[in-house]
Amino acid sequence: MLDIARLRLTMELRGSGVTDARALGAIEKTPREAFVPEHLHDQAYENVALPIDCGQTISQPLVVALMTQALDVGERMTVLEIGTGSGYQAAVLAHLCRRVYTIERHAELHRVAIRRFAALRLNTIVARCGNGAKGWPEAAPFDRIIVTCAAPVVPDTLVDQLRDDGVLVLPVGAVDRTQELVRIRRTGTSTTTERLGGVRFVPLVPSEGKP
Ligand code: SAH
Repeated sequence: MLDIARLRLTMELRGSGVTDARALGAIEKTPREAFVPEHLHDQAYENVALPIDCGQTISQPLVVALMTQALDVGERMTVLEIGTGSGYQAAVLAHLCRRVYTIERHAELHRVAIRRFAALRLNTIVARCGNGAKGWPEAAPFDRIIVTCAAPVVPDTLVDQLRDDGVLVLPVGAVDRTQELVRIRRTGTSTTTERLGGVRFVPLVPSEGKP
């Protein structure tokens, strides 16, 4: 039943303009029901964002697919994610690259996510609880960085932690409005920015999480 639902979702994503076969394949391999609260299991494969603990959300599958596609992740790459949340986006990325580093400010979400990664044997994901606005300096530079919460401006710290020719995908803008999904490519000390369209995310909170 769930396999069919997962297949139907990837077909819907394809119909909505997601063309990257690797991104679609990773979504097809990732059991989204393992990342949503139990009482919402019947909606796990609907193309909608769903609430998770701590007042946060697991992103809409179409947004996960578009961000994954925009990130253009290669098999040997190292990726940093800011905003682990449920862990779903990190799990999708884990099928596409060598290692995923992911940071969450809420200790409770972090705890639940690492349990899920272990249960699904996603042992190329390294998770930490802390302030993602600072990036992960000890593991930098990264080939790719994805931010799954909205920042009012592009954080320089994250651009600094990109490898040369690295790519950062993030929603930029105020929280009470539609934000813009932006892709930044770093070339030496300069960057190029592309706008990829409107999205809506919870905010990147510029401080440490609550215990
Ligand atoms: N990628 C997630 C979506 C998470 S929603 C998923 O697939 O489910 C965004 C997450 O970013 C929230 O869990 C929120 O707590 C977290 N967040 C917000 N500001 C943060 C910060 N400064 N550092 C780390 N995580 C942050």
